[in-house]
Amino acid sequence: MLIYDLDLPALTTQLKEWDEPAYRAKQIWQGLYQHLYDSPEQFTNLSKPLREKMAKHFIFSNFKVKTFQDSSDGHTRKTLFELPDKNLIEAVLMKYEREDGEIGANRDSDFATGASRPKVRRTLCISTQAGCAMGCVFCATGQMGFKRNLSSGEIVAQVMYYARMLKAKNESVTNVVYMGMGEPFHNYENTMASVDTLNDADGFNFGARRFTISTVGLVPQIRRFADEQRQVNLAVSLHASDDESRLEMMPINKKYKIAELLEACDYYVQKTSRRVTFEWALINGVNDSPEVAKKLGAKLRGLMCHVNAIPLNPTTGFNGKATDRQRAIQFKETLEQAGIPCTIRVRRGIDIKAGCGQLAGAAKG
Ligand code: SAH
Ligand code: SF4
Repeated sequence: MLIYDLDLPALTTQLKEWDEPAYRAKQIWQGLYQHLYDSPEQFTNLSKPLREKMAKHFIFSNFKVKTFQDSSDGHTRKTLFELPDKNLIEAVLMKYEREDGEIGANRDSDFATGASRPKVRRTLCISTQAGCAMGCVFCATGQMGFKRNLSSGEIVAQVMYYARMLKAKNESVTNVVYMGMGEPFHNYENTMASVDTLNDADGFNFGARRFTISTVGLVPQIRRFADEQRQVNLAVSLHASDDESRLEMMPINKKYKIAELLEACDYYVQKTSRRVTFEWALINGVNDSPEVAKKLGAKLRGLMCHVNAIPLNPTTGFNGKATDRQRAIQFKETLEQAGIPCTIRVRRGIDIKAGCGQLAGAAKG
């Protein structure tokens, strides 16, 4: 069993079965998530027989690092992991040294919507599924189809991998975004279990506001998430301001129309008093005109929100082109005139196919 799949109560139950006191489970928990141990031998505060039992019973790493690639500017690293069943998943680390990552004056947001955003960020983008069932046409993960859900431990393990790497350089992960492969709300339980594990104050103690979960817009799950009143940031992939064009790009719009989606987002804002972020991949001639921006502005009026627009990243299965910088700025300004804050994000890691929507779990790009 992958040790990261256990929460503290489950670990305590296991230790109890071995006639060990509850505090031993806590010691293991702290070893895993505070000291970032990844093998039983490192738990020198435990007896040798217990360590041997752990080695026999638990798996400390169930994936192999198949490859990793650094972007030419050195700010982005993409790692390809192979799971025991040979499925491949990717996780991307993005380093921001100052206020880079955004074009324009609005520096209010880049997924980290917390007030005290550290200037130097180490943002980790992780996967929740191998592949994705949602089939958005512009997305490489969607183009590959659905393979399987990741367990909570497989999600947590991606964070621990990078946390260890950064620790060796005296650095740490500052933000975790659920924006890698897969649809987090299509794997709701495991996604939230991973948040709970990483958030635990006796363990990794990663603050709720430093997580962002991005969803294609699964309405019942957005409502459930709102009811759970988590402090985790929510991002919703919108990409179109009318149902017809959204449906052309995102099959999910057949099930949940924009009006219903925005109602769920409004419910989220009411329940949590937190702002929702809408993601918008700017595609030349498709969803980047001032008219579209005006229409979007009208639809979002009154909703506490923010739009994160990013010029489309290229994928092999989709013909659309990215909006150029000038048009992107015009889109942002039109939206802001309608009272909706908008940030244009700079694309990252495109040369290693590590950008949004480019993760295809392929050893070669
Ligand atoms: N499944 C979730 C999270 C993973 S995708 C979701 O769809 O929200 C992360 C973000 O990248 C989403 O906003 C998605 O719409 C966006 N995206 C997908 N393909 C893209 C592309 N080719 N260029 C830019 N953004 C893209
Ligand atoms: Fe899945 Fe998100 Fe890609 Fe759509 S954009 S196919 S939901 S990963």
